[in-house]
Amino acid sequence: MRDALANRSRIARRIERAGGAVVMLDFDGTLAPIVSKPDKARMSAGMRRALSLCARRMPLAIVTGRALADVKKRIRLGNVSIAGNHGLEWFVAGKQKRIAVSPAMMRALRAARKGLTALEKRYKGVYVEDKKLSISVHFRRARVHPRAVEREVRRIARRFGASRLHIIGGILVLNILPKAGWDKGRAAAMMASCIKSSKNAVPIFIGNDETDEGAFRALRRGITIRVKNGKNAETAASYTLNNTESVRKFLLWLAPLETNMRCEPSRSLTGLAAFRSRAL
Ligand SMILES: [Mg+2]
Repeated sequence: MRDALANRSRIARRIERAGGAVVMLDFDGTLAPIVSKPDKARMSAGMRRALSLCARRMPLAIVTGRALADVKKRIRLGNVSIAGNHGLEWFVAGKQKRIAVSPAMMRALRAARKGLTALEKRYKGVYVEDKKLSISVHFRRARVHPRAVEREVRRIARRFGASRLHIIGGILVLNILPKAGWDKGRAAAMMASCIKSSKNAVPIFIGNDETDEGAFRALRRGITIRVKNGKNAETAASYTLNNTESVRKFLLWLAPLETNMRCEPSRSLTGLAAFRSRAL
């Protein structure tokens, strides 16, 4: 695998050829180090500076499994667009939108939530995060084998909504979502078309786990970067970075590069108009 920092000149040439870039990043494990409790995840002051610098100079977005409101308060930068809940919630150009999910799917999700919450009592260390439009079951701190929890989560999701819910796996977390056709791959492709400043701008996507692989595959012709955080996982990404500190360095290198091209970010949610959605 090619390290993105070691291949800066190659990446710069690619951006130059495209005439600009649109940058998208995952949050946990990419901008903020992984912590045992998801609520404790924070960006460092240095990362916030690097992100802010980049966002002032090029179109930039966060594409995350976290709920929109949650990640918004962790980012606190008005010029950063966000796709939350794996693409079910959007914040672009100061406007928020939510993808319409059928009542039957929401009922299935609520029913599954009850079953999943019961797992917290059964397995010490399991934490169920209710993100309204989706549910995450974290088992980083579980005292039992991850496979035991996984089996139970899959059984509950099947029982309450085999045709209405789907599961996206991450690192010691499972995400249960309504089967509304969204994942990070589709969200990243849509986000790029919503915020890019020029037709041929090359998408850059940086993420660290299984859920980001969808985005790497969807953006096969872009610059895709997997953050390793100590693990050499198989990936569809074209580059790697070692950890969140390398992500910070990469953003700091990227920001002035784009300035030279005088790219004015354009942001709009018009691309999403084709989907049944409603303003929040
Ligand atoms: Mg992540």
